Amino acid sequence: MESAFETDPELLEKVINLAKRRGFIFQSAEIYGGFRSTYDYGPLGVNMLRNVKAAWWREMVQMRLDVVGIDAAILGPPAVWAASGHLETFTDPLVDCRKCKERWREDKIDGVCPKCGSTEFTEARAFNLMFKTQAGPVEGEGATAYLRPETAQGMFTNFNNVISTIRKKPPFGIAQIGKSFRNEITPQNFVFRTREFEQMEMEFFVPPAEAEQWYRYWIDQRFNWYLNLGIPSDMLRLHEHAKEDLSHYSRGTTDVEFAYPWGWDELEGIANRGDYDLTQHSNASGTKLEYFDQAANERYTPYVIEPAAGATRAMMAFLLAAYHEDEVEGETRTVLRLDWRLAPYQIAVLPLSKKPELEGVSREVLSILQPYFACDYDVTQSIGRRYRRQDEVGTPYCITVDFDSLEDRAVTVRDRDTTEQVRVPIGDLLANMRARTNQH
Ligand code: ATP
Repeated sequence: MESAFETDPELLEKVINLAKRRGFIFQSAEIYGGFRSTYDYGPLGVNMLRNVKAAWWREMVQMRLDVVGIDAAILGPPAVWAASGHLETFTDPLVDCRKCKERWREDKIDGVCPKCGSTEFTEARAFNLMFKTQAGPVEGEGATAYLRPETAQGMFTNFNNVISTIRKKPPFGIAQIGKSFRNEITPQNFVFRTREFEQMEMEFFVPPAEAEQWYRYWIDQRFNWYLNLGIPSDMLRLHEHAKEDLSHYSRGTTDVEFAYPWGWDELEGIANRGDYDLTQHSNASGTKLEYFDQAANERYTPYVIEPAAGATRAMMAFLLAAYHEDEVEGETRTVLRLDWRLAPYQIAVLPLSKKPELEGVSREVLSILQPYFACDYDVTQSIGRRYRRQDEVGTPYCITVDFDSLEDRAVTVRDRDTTEQVRVPIGDLLANMRARTNQH
């Protein structure tokens, strides 16, 4: 991988430390020594992850008339995964180092063991990435279930249910956000690749003749989504897969790539899946998954354009892109320049002192803003320290309530990025904050 971007060599470590120290992301089961490659989202992390998902849902579902959502089951019967091709082909080639016995994905190591440098490996074996489990008390084929390795199949298997309950016709899409599970051989790089993760996927069903045009459209839309949420353009690029590298179902795949500290790597994939999925499920289930175009009096199997993103992976990219160290009043500060829509808290209300006189008006300010914005409330330590703490977790606005507030019924609003402070009457505060966040 070519080195993409001049980043701080310690950026990844710094972001991991910040994420842990400030309650974004913890190692799972840490008190038991941790469970490899699983993570828990803490009080700030859960806010941010929900914001990433909400921003996606807003753009992909709420703001459109041609996309609807579903929420499908995580557990599924083998038949679904036989039809989708996952039982047969959802595998990684696995090799063992003959010297140190470490196990690797053959396609990720260029013939050299990353641990001991040996070039001697066992023959590659196909390793299926799906987690297999058992539903009900009886063991046997009938009881086998799989945890979904992607959310997409729920959209295909519900195609007829959605078509018959919602008055949509191609081009239209079905979107879903939810957990997926893959028994990754080499989970790595914090939450970039984990065994349990969240996806945000949309299957857009189109007349076959329009597939190429919609494929290009969605590449463009998805690239811009990251840009609009604050990832700088020089940290993003598109990578179109060569025809010979395409998955068996794909007629075209383009990745949105991000400049991670280790180089360019995938953030999201947009694929033209042709009629593969609906045809496979039609044949395997015996239920036709087609669209009847009344005007043309013809039946056809729509093609599918799929933008497939990772919510947890996107959150990591937003954190990496937002992390900055700069200087304010001769002091170095850490600041997350997160878009206000993604920040765990949009506003922090900070009474200048713990004195009880300030509590009433501070709580009044909080009660005005809290229904509309995620607010923190912090009374401990000096105001300077509190500003730094909020900068470090990306809070765009701090509102300080001081003793003058009792007289002039106004407060000081401080901007995270410029550190500029202005006095705003409490009566204008909600409108002021809405204007700052473009919600007039
Ligand atoms: P990779 O090659 O990185 O394993 P993929 O091409 O198999 O990913 P897709 O099947 O296209 O990934 O999944 C769509 C998106 O889901 C990815 O772009 C990524 O954002 C996310 N994703 C996939 N696997 C993982 C994982 N193990 N951990 C976190 N996110 C993941």
